[in-house]
Amino acid sequence: MGIGTAMATAAGRRCTKCGHGGVIQISLTLHTEEHLTFQSCHKCEHKWWEAPQDSAEPVVPLAEVLNRAKVVRKSA
Ligand SMILES: [Zn+2]
Repeated sequence: MGIGTAMATAAGRRCTKCGHGGVIQISLTLHTEEHLTFQSCHKCEHKWWEAPQDSAEPVVPLAEVLNRAKVVRKSA
């Protein structure tokens, strides 16, 4: 119930690598209006991306994030 929680640590979230509870989340919305969450572990510095929980693939590889994030031009 504290005021001024500086870090956006997500309660109940744990690092997928070391299991540490201090995970920082940063939300990102792609131009496709897809919502992804960047997660970073305080302890082991493991970083990963997650799609919304209703997604078919909750954990998104970085290469896939970059692939989705890039602007695709249609050739005329
Ligand atoms: Zn970790």
